[in-house]
Amino acid sequence: MSGISTSQKSGNELLAPRPANRVEVSFEFFPPTSDALAEKHWQALNRLAPLGPKFVSVTYGAGGSTRERTHAMVTRIRQETDLEPAAHLTCVGAEIGEIDEVAENYWQSGIRHLVVLRGDPPEGSTKFSPHPGGFNGSVELITHLKKQHDFEISVGCYPEIHPDAKSSLADIDYLKRKMDAGATRAITQFFFDPEVYLRFVDRARTHGITIPIVPGILPVSSYSKIRKFAGQCGTQVPAWLTHLFENLDEDPATRNLVAAMVASEQCRQLQRAGVADFHFYTLNRADLVYSVCHTLGLRPDQNFAAV
Ligand code: FAD
Repeated sequence: MSGISTSQKSGNELLAPRPANRVEVSFEFFPPTSDALAEKHWQALNRLAPLGPKFVSVTYGAGGSTRERTHAMVTRIRQETDLEPAAHLTCVGAEIGEIDEVAENYWQSGIRHLVVLRGDPPEGSTKFSPHPGGFNGSVELITHLKKQHDFEISVGCYPEIHPDAKSSLADIDYLKRKMDAGATRAITQFFFDPEVYLRFVDRARTHGITIPIVPGILPVSSYSKIRKFAGQCGTQVPAWLTHLFENLDEDPATRNLVAAMVASEQCRQLQRAGVADFHFYTLNRADLVYSVCHTLGLRPDQNFAAV
């Protein structure tokens, strides 16, 4: 009897609602690759919008390949919704003049928040090499953009160390340089083990990094895709995760339930450790992210006007 009541107590503790007013979220989308997909992606954004994200960001395809589509989606968000848009901007394969034009267009369109990155190399290459007339990396890009306009700048960071970093110390030093150049928020690459994130934040604080370090949460909509992404960016896929998604490739209903459970548990562990700000890599799918936000205590704003 007492054993049962103890485990019930801990279950109740685990599932008890958290104070919703402490949780802040942001959502990342990628620009649609066709007009046909644009409306589907817009519906995903509409579903998540009433949860009141701090901002919604739109990625910039490898090597600047989605320049126009990113711009179109970000400006549509600005013009047709009350959401705060943030445009990702990278320096791969672009001259300084081209980047200036993109940034200037954003400023003129009322976009004040950029997620500034060095960028993924274009299809077919694996290593970053600077454009002869461009920037050597994100620090140069941030410094330059800050001189053009007073953009709010978020950057990427890597709890499991960026594959190009010489060491974890060098990686943290580089993040510090991004902050010193003007970044006011760092968003992490996705990870699965909350301890990895918490240790990274401790290391960053010890090195004088004072800006918010927001965990980037990637719900596992497709295990094989996530495994591939993880291999490319150095994220560890724990054995327990592999085990949980075993035999689910052809079973989307069970896979989604497991994915929601895994991401919710990851977020709630972070929440218990004091984290109140989460960035979701939505992959343009609303349902999984919506359910995770729900378990974090977020509820839609009933007054939010659908767009
Ligand atoms: P940086 O931090 O500038 O460099 C990567 C690492 O290399 C550094 O952490 C550092 O360890 C090392 N390094 C680089 N230069 C130096 C130097 N001069 N001295 C010492 N060390 C150095 N990619 C896209 O193409 N489009 C996107 O929209 C996009 N969005 C993203 C959003 C988030 C939140 C994250 C985390 C990543 C995103 N990426 C995107 C992926 C990103 O472009 C890649 O991870 C890229 O390899 C690194 O970009 P970065 O700006 O973080 O690199």
